[in-house]
Amino acid sequence: MKVELEADKCVASGQCVLAAMDVFDQDDDGIAVLLEETPGPELLDDVREAVAVCPAAAIRLVEQ
Ligand code: SF4
Repeated sequence: MKVELEADKCVASGQCVLAAMDVFDQDDDGIAVLLEETPGPELLDDVREAVAVCPAAAIRLVEQ
């Protein structure tokens, strides 16, 4: 799978980091940073959770 993050939509809520800390981090302004663009299948549930909880709909999961 591939994760796409539209950082210009991000409102710095941090929910994605709580859901999937191996995949997302936040910069000094709280804006999400993608750590792993193609995380392994063991992280799929975490990334799906991040997509679901992001209040800005800034994260997409593309299944390959
Ligand atoms: S959950 Fe969405 S709005 Fe919040 S930090 Fe992550 S990408 Fe940004």
